[in-house]
Amino acid sequence: MSPSTIHNTKVVKLNETLVQELEHIVRGMVITPDSLEYDESRKVYNGMIDRYPSLIVKCSNVADVIHCVQFAKSHQLTVAIKGGGHNAGGLGMVDNGLVIDLSNMKGILFNLAENTVRVEGGCTLGDLDHATQAFGQAVPTGILSTTGISGLTLGGGLGHLSRAYGLTIDSLLEADMVLADGSFVKVDQENHPDLFWAIRGGGGNFGIVTSFKFQMHPVGIIQGGPMFWPLSEAREIMKFYREFILGAPKEIYCYFAFLTVPPVPIFPEELHLKKMCGLLWCNIGDEARSQKALQKFRDFKKPVLDYVGPIHFDHLQTMFDALYPKGLQWYWKADFVKDLSDEAIEENLKHANNLPTPHSTVHFYPINGASHDKSNTDTAFCYRDANWAQVIVGVDPDPANKDKISQWAKAYWDGIHPYSAGGAYVNFMMEEGTDRVKASYRDNYEKLAHIKAKYDPDNFFSINQNIPPKPNAGT
Ligand SMILES: Cc1cc2nc3c(=O)[nH]c(=O)nc-3n(C[C@H](O)[C@H](O)[C@H](O)COP(=O)(O)OP(=O)(O)OC[C@H]3O[C@@H](n4cnc5c(N)ncnc54)[C@H](O)[C@@H]3O)c2cc1C
Repeated sequence: MSPSTIHNTKVVKLNETLVQELEHIVRGMVITPDSLEYDESRKVYNGMIDRYPSLIVKCSNVADVIHCVQFAKSHQLTVAIKGGGHNAGGLGMVDNGLVIDLSNMKGILFNLAENTVRVEGGCTLGDLDHATQAFGQAVPTGILSTTGISGLTLGGGLGHLSRAYGLTIDSLLEADMVLADGSFVKVDQENHPDLFWAIRGGGGNFGIVTSFKFQMHPVGIIQGGPMFWPLSEAREIMKFYREFILGAPKEIYCYFAFLTVPPVPIFPEELHLKKMCGLLWCNIGDEARSQKALQKFRDFKKPVLDYVGPIHFDHLQTMFDALYPKGLQWYWKADFVKDLSDEAIEENLKHANNLPTPHSTVHFYPINGASHDKSNTDTAFCYRDANWAQVIVGVDPDPANKDKISQWAKAYWDGIHPYSAGGAYVNFMMEEGTDRVKASYRDNYEKLAHIKAKYDPDNFFSINQNIPPKPNAGT
């Protein structure tokens, strides 16, 4: 018996006539538990996720997405939407349901007169950077090029350009969406403005985005790369970093990390597998201002590794891809942080000393600068008053270490959560339940639940950081 035959006994299969009905109306590939492609297609980025959908449709176009929605409604199938498949909780995959997989929808269209780019829902950050960098432009996204643009944008989107140009959603001008009733709508400030507000942070709750239109920004060669210090100096570096980044000019960006130096040739052998703290820089704009910022740290404590220099933006964006290939085990915990107090730093150091495996890491992504130009109520993303999004990730290639990395991340989070702003960035959460989702949307939660009731009253889109529909009183 082949492994896939054994697996397939776990899944509810649809009858063949139904599958043929769908095959006749879509242009994309319909994958069933009996298809050769099934096991590969149900894998997502996080190797810990092991789900068995009844059907996966690799959509070719918007019409396929509409047909899938109608088919799922007619046959009461639970639907998951897969963009890049990067979600740590595996929210792009579902047991015994229909996966609407957009990963083959990778169209990218420029309007250079208005400096905008339209991106289909299956694009990764790398697809977008590759296209925009040809014009010396970029859209602010995240730090690993294999991440999907769809899930990242719908949760908010933070990365190297957040201080200069804001979150990804701050560059979003328009989205095309297929709604729960199968209708296709354009969503922007004028058309369905409530929905436009909700999809800027509210996740995949409201419909399937088939394409996004973004404003581009000039980004070419930047001053970027890592600086590392021994963990024994982390207390001082963290405190220095805290003061620095809260007052730094917007075009200066660096996130703080606890990490283990990978045993690969680009790093000096004597540092291999040493636990360190570090900064990963991405300074755009004026080089003298960048040098001044870098020099502050070099003067404060000489880094044991200093690889910061001129680099193409898209090279920085792909720097860690090889280190974190698809299929590793990942367990995430996260919080927003407003004030990084001395006590919080002590608690962080305690757990960082116990990084459980070489791939495991902790990042503090600054979300001040231009990300603060909007208020908590301007978009669904509700933590504009926070200064960092912290993420604790236990990572390892070996499934046998699943418990070890999860337990470390949970214990770390238990320790630091009391010092946090309360909620977490939804894109850094596993499946953690309604209270955590509520904490992440705070005062925006009620409004999101009303908008959900208007556009998806039956909670058809439920495989996400779910906001159940709540009709307005009297409606
Ligand atoms: C290694 C790694 C690095 C990361 N780095 C960053 C980072 O730098 N910055 C950052 O902000 N985030 C980062 N993330 C988090 C990332 O934003 C989320 O994991 C996000 O969900 C990924 O989007 P995806 O399309 O790949 O996800 P998928 O797993 O495909 O989907 C995740 C969720 O998004 C919804 N969704 C996906 N596509 C659509 C669509 N077209 N329409 C409607 N809903 C949709 C789904 O319903 C699902 O709930 C990182 C994640 C990983 C694993």
